[in-house]
Amino acid sequence: MTVCNLNYKYLKDNATPGSWRRGYEYYQSGQIDSVEVTKTGVKAKVKGNFKSFYDVELKFKKTGIEPTCSCPLKEKWCKHAIAVALKAIEDHTYDEFLKKKFKIEPDYSDEQTFMNENPQGGYIFHFNAKRRQNFFSILVMDRNTSKVIRDIEAVLKAVIAAQKADPNFELNNSQKVELAIFQLLLKNSRLDKKAGWYDIPIAKFDGFFQLLSKADDVIDGKTKDKLVFCSDEWKLSMSVNFSMVGNVLLSLYWQRPDKDDIIPFDEVRYFSRQLKWGRYKNKIFPINVQLSALPQNLIKTTFTDVKDADGA
Ligand SMILES: [Zn+2]
Repeated sequence: MTVCNLNYKYLKDNATPGSWRRGYEYYQSGQIDSVEVTKTGVKAKVKGNFKSFYDVELKFKKTGIEPTCSCPLKEKWCKHAIAVALKAIEDHTYDEFLKKKFKIEPDYSDEQTFMNENPQGGYIFHFNAKRRQNFFSILVMDRNTSKVIRDIEAVLKAVIAAQKADPNFELNNSQKVELAIFQLLLKNSRLDKKAGWYDIPIAKFDGFFQLLSKADDVIDGKTKDKLVFCSDEWKLSMSVNFSMVGNVLLSLYWQRPDKDDIIPFDEVRYFSRQLKWGRYKNKIFPINVQLSALPQNLIKTTFTDVKDADGA
């Protein structure tokens, strides 16, 4: 018996393109009210167009989810049920149900990340993409003293001195990466002396991502969560659906290489239109397209309507 995996792919596979799209938009715009987690699933009210709200119930089973809704739509997975299921994904309601009832351990590796247990280097890097417009910022902290490093040149000089004093002096890989980051910082950044942040123009940041992905620990400067860099590329894909009235619905998804799921375009944050790096929760990964290379009206949201050539 295969255990169901309630994720984006599951919902997209089980719904019609129209209700999947509208359910996703209901979820995004917060049309879900009074979510109640029960022993066997979840009950919620969803704001409707004709009635003030519809009652949705999702019954959880090990092998799948059974939705019911009080709306007149014939589909099993109507837009209201989709919206509630998306909320359940966000809240991990089904994961917790499987854990409680069947002792199946959930996989929260996208958001629960842990510091390196055996660090080889001496520094922790903090990353902030929002400190200054058009800049990304890095703060360097001494791992042992928690002191913020403001004088990188002094650190580099100390290494050179150590090398001179001892011909057998050798750096391990983490230390080599740290030195490379320091050298790149000296070349490309401006230090905010008071705050201790090094600001780097976004256009020059690709090399930093490459190096940070090899550092022992990189921390989100705001949330203080550990960021996990992945080396496998996430690929953008597009679904095309033709409707009866001659419209074409385009939807964009990220194909993730590590799990059998597709992530709607809106869920991934990309750092800039030029850099081929994306972020989902606490994971940072290379992406296969530069977003500046795509038609800009296509990448505003996950779903885009296009009139068919033969359409009205
Ligand atoms: Zn419904």
